Amino acid sequence: MRQELIQVEVGGGLAFAEVEEKPDCVWRWQLQEPPKQDVTPVHLVNAQLEDEVHDWRWNDGGLVFKGRGIKHGQSYWLILQYKDGEEPGQVECSSCGTTLPGTANFCMTCGTEL
Ligand SMILES: [Zn+2]
Repeated sequence: MRQELIQVEVGGGLAFAEVEEKPDCVWRWQLQEPPKQDVTPVHLVNAQLEDEVHDWRWNDGGLVFKGRGIKHGQSYWLILQYKDGEEPGQVECSSCGTTLPGTANFCMTCGTEL
């Protein structure tokens, strides 16, 4: 999991931010002081989890944000989270001990079925 902090300013009822990659989760920071890079957002404690479709959408290289109750001319911190491709667990061949990807059906070294 990676996260990125960005500050957006609302103009005309929504905010637009240039972001390279579509995030998996978008949080709106709720506290006065800016968030720290390694902060863990917690819904309704320090941040609000924003819904895709209702509160934000991905629009070709950018994030269009329109969270409930955001005000024109005000700026907000957003925490964007990315779930990096998680490695499938690895398995070890019971016959020869070769380490294999978790998706393997048989051992690539000795051919034993897994
Ligand atoms: Zn093997």
